Amino acid sequence: MNENRFIAVFRDIRDSLRRLSRRDWIVCAAVFPSVGFLCALYILFRPGNYIEPGTLGPLFFFGILYAALLSGALIRRDAWGRMIYFAFPPVLLLCEWLNFSPIEQFYAVTQLSFAMLLSVWFFCADTLCGDPAGHFRRSLRLLPTLLFGFLLYLLPVTILAHHIATGRNFTYDSIQAVYQTDLAEALHYFFTHFFCLLLFALLILCGAGLFFLNRIGASRGVSRGYLVCIALVLLGLSRPLYTELTGIDSLNRTKMLFTDSLQYFAVIEEYAARGPERMEMVKRHVEKASGEDGIFVLIIGESHNRNRCSAYGYEPDTTPFMKAASREPDFILMRNAFSCHVQTMQVVSCMLSAHNQYVKYGKTALPSIFDVLKYCGYYTVFLSNQYPHGRYDSPIAALVSGADECVWLNTMEDFILWRARFDETLLAPLSQHLRSDRSFVVLHLMGSHGPYARRYPKGFREDLASWHVYDRSVLYVDGVLERIFTMLRKNPRVKAALYLADHSEKPGVGHGADAYVQEIAEIPMLLYLSESLRRERPGLAETLRSHAGSVFTNDLTFELLLDLMGVRHTFGSPRYRIALPSYCLPFEEARTLLGARRLDGTEIKRR
Ligand SMILES: [Zn+2]
Repeated sequence: MNENRFIAVFRDIRDSLRRLSRRDWIVCAAVFPSVGFLCALYILFRPGNYIEPGTLGPLFFFGILYAALLSGALIRRDAWGRMIYFAFPPVLLLCEWLNFSPIEQFYAVTQLSFAMLLSVWFFCADTLCGDPAGHFRRSLRLLPTLLFGFLLYLLPVTILAHHIATGRNFTYDSIQAVYQTDLAEALHYFFTHFFCLLLFALLILCGAGLFFLNRIGASRGVSRGYLVCIALVLLGLSRPLYTELTGIDSLNRTKMLFTDSLQYFAVIEEYAARGPERMEMVKRHVEKASGEDGIFVLIIGESHNRNRCSAYGYEPDTTPFMKAASREPDFILMRNAFSCHVQTMQVVSCMLSAHNQYVKYGKTALPSIFDVLKYCGYYTVFLSNQYPHGRYDSPIAALVSGADECVWLNTMEDFILWRARFDETLLAPLSQHLRSDRSFVVLHLMGSHGPYARRYPKGFREDLASWHVYDRSVLYVDGVLERIFTMLRKNPRVKAALYLADHSEKPGVGHGADAYVQEIAEIPMLLYLSESLRRERPGLAETLRSHAGSVFTNDLTFELLLDLMGVRHTFGSPRYRIALPSYCLPFEEARTLLGARRLDGTEIKRR
């Protein structure tokens, strides 16, 4: 754009503003406070008492843009069809209100920002396409409105229509049903259901309505200044929109319901497709039906830093149970355990599969512990207080889909709202799964994952209010572990149990791989061997106790569990099986971040 054009556009904007009548200014004066008032009203009447301060800035910004464009559209009065974009926030709120559980203030703020961002972006895109097209022929303005309106409303209207037609919520299962339907089935369904035909007729009516709405009032013609402003807004918002739709932190429920479902199905399908390959590997490495009878339990902790455990010398007394247990003959406290990565998905995938950092198996799909134990005739159960869906969690869900039974306590809603049940909720389902004579049970705790204060019930040990909230969460987990181990020790069928965390945590900082320090790989690990097991296999207990001070990385959990259960196998190498006397993993050789670093953080040079 050369200088003259730039000045012309600027003049155009200035003149348009000068031409605004008193009535136009009254419109603006009504729209801005109304938008602000309605947003504030909505958020204030949501339950919850926490709003992430960083989310208020975007809300304010998108609120102003939304009000500005709405005022502009009301003043121009020539393309009423585009008003549908401004109806999007209330429609989305209604759809989410009907389809999901009531939301908290924390989420309501981001929900409103998201809805207004979409409204504004789609309005701008429509204007930028529709105004020049309408310059040639007024009716052409309908096309972008139909296209963008359809895209914007497709998902919320689908959810609303499903709700009205069936009275049920639209869930992962609904999407799965749609996902597994082929075209012929879909067409048959469409033509045999009155509701679908009605919906179709309504859509046609909406199209016709938009056509006539766009013809009301005199055509304004194309204003260059207005279009340049709209183009700038569109450009400026394109990146935030892209992030909101694809970003890892964008948590809109309607969006996530669809994107995460599709990703989840893809991951599960891919995993299932390689089942035969994994079974081949199991047959090569495992003696069928080997292993001792009994119940074996793995408890996976979360973000548990052993340097904050009194059992490892920390003051105050954050782990009284672990400390007392370490002195008893039933337990072995492993003093030098580390995590093989610092993020849950990577670690749990290694813990529960033959994958480890030291032995390379080539490109073949590696079996999970569930694959192996099923082959050996164990009944396998996975109980989780984490989340089944989502890009961090779906790979774990795929892996544990090999278990005979999976129990997930939380839903997508819980994930978005950062909430989970308290870990003690796992006790009831655990007690119901300790009945079989030959079984393997995994418990996946929420442990001390941030935000720490949400990991224990309100009022838990208020006398310790001066403690760091992280330490209080560690104390709570220790209490839950005490209750779990008490239950296990009372049950004569339980032969062995292992508690270890997925990774550690730097309280207040977190556990990111990009900021690796040794501390976030230092985890607690506690092994329980029942009296009967120690009697039957005295050598095993002796060997493990002699390795209590050895360096151990938790990707070797798979081999440890199989050896505890007496499964005869050839996975790994005798050097990396801590239950064998041949175990030998010097600190310099041990790895983390999936083999990319030494434990002290030194990067490994790859040849
Ligand atoms: Zn984790």
